[in-house]
Amino acid sequence: MKDTIVLYPAPGISHLTSMVELGKLILRHYNSRFSLTIVITSASFDSAKIDPYIEQVSQTNPSIAFHRFPSLPNRPSLKPPVHPVAILLESISLNNPNLLHTLKTISETSSIAALVIDFFCNPASHVATELSIPLYYYFPTNASIVAMFLHLPILHNETDKSFRELGNTILHVPGLPPVRASHMSASLLDRNNQVYDNMLGLGTQLLKSKGIISNTIEALEPEAIKVIKNQTPAIFCVGPMITEPGDQSSAADWLSWLDKQPSGSVLFLCFGSRGVFSVKQISEIAVGLERSGQRFLWVVKDPPPIDTGVRMMSPLSTMDFDLEAVMPEGFLERTRDRGLVVKSWAPQVEVLNRESVGGFVTHCGWNSVLEAVSAGVPMVAWPLYAEQHINKEVLVEAMRVALPMEAADEDGFVVAAEVEKRVRMLMDSDEGTKMRKLCGEMKGMALAAWAENGSSRAAFNDLAQSWNRG
Ligand code: UDP
Repeated sequence: MKDTIVLYPAPGISHLTSMVELGKLILRHYNSRFSLTIVITSASFDSAKIDPYIEQVSQTNPSIAFHRFPSLPNRPSLKPPVHPVAILLESISLNNPNLLHTLKTISETSSIAALVIDFFCNPASHVATELSIPLYYYFPTNASIVAMFLHLPILHNETDKSFRELGNTILHVPGLPPVRASHMSASLLDRNNQVYDNMLGLGTQLLKSKGIISNTIEALEPEAIKVIKNQTPAIFCVGPMITEPGDQSSAADWLSWLDKQPSGSVLFLCFGSRGVFSVKQISEIAVGLERSGQRFLWVVKDPPPIDTGVRMMSPLSTMDFDLEAVMPEGFLERTRDRGLVVKSWAPQVEVLNRESVGGFVTHCGWNSVLEAVSAGVPMVAWPLYAEQHINKEVLVEAMRVALPMEAADEDGFVVAAEVEKRVRMLMDSDEGTKMRKLCGEMKGMALAAWAENGSSRAAFNDLAQSWNRG
């Protein structure tokens, strides 16, 4: 009888896709030893993308069992403008009885060798303790963020002020480049709320777990990984795990436009599953792009009706909107020969791997970074939410594969001239060419990590061994 590994992704498409890739790896390498169940909360976050995605994965990978929790009798009571992470954490807490029931049911027929939870599912950690199931944390993001969470209790005790109040104060987190306090993860900026409390608790919980799995590569973040190894039971760096193009639904009509463009000539602008801009900011980007004279493919999401300054789309928003109404007048027509604007979503991995794509303006979500590195595409780093400001520092200062997009004010507003400047630098300067070469080398590194004797393969085998030991 096989033991079972249960994976618990956080709600949200990018967390699910990353966890599914981990699941595929487990089955590819240890199919004879483990069976796999992925539990999914009933929260309706991203359901328009999640439902077809699960259907697609179930067809191509029938051995992955998806178990959906029943709908909650009481839907999450928090509604926007509450921070999206608060909604997410509440939905995890409310699902704890479902998780408990599911784990007990699985245990009746199979021994559960591990429960692997996304770090946002921290409110579920005690369920594993209650059932004496070995608990592992999964970070779809990088090791630098793990190091930041481990150090958070220390930063917390050094002051009684919120990071927001500390503003430009430079924080020193072992293993990371220096970080401005106001650039800490957005959900950590105010210390007097539940999201902060939960994330603060995570730093301590991590030390009690059996291990931490991170979607990174040893060679990308050696300093951060060294720091973590000195503190935690175990860290397994098994990246890069990125979505297979076949699992993303594609819109073939404009992909064929991409294929007609010269090699390395198109700039791709895409800001993750949640990055949104105000109409005013969209207009500045459009002007900058137009003046840059470069070819582009730009994914635009529905701007919020009132600009609150939050750059993270509510998980409850829809994908459809009137694109023409939010773009500057005449822009789509004037740039028709060299640019395309796509509404809400594009199959990013497919796009990044097209021969014609030569640069990427990204919000610095870690999946996006790994996808760009694995495709050898250099970036302009424009962080918007979550831990992305920290990722920007890692990309620009440590890895040197991205140019920074500099904001004109404290609210992160970027003017057209800056967009134009960075786009030109990336696509048409010696600096951009140098960066492209370095990205090519990193692509090689990413491949090597999973080759025979590669660091990620070795870490993955160690992880499976730890499950075997129980
Ligand atoms: N993505 C995509 N098309 C889009 C926007 C996002 O395919 O238009 C995918 C992207 O390939 C990545 C994920 O969604 O795998 C975004 O994850 P990331 O960690 O970069 O950012 P998040 O959405 O978590 O902020």
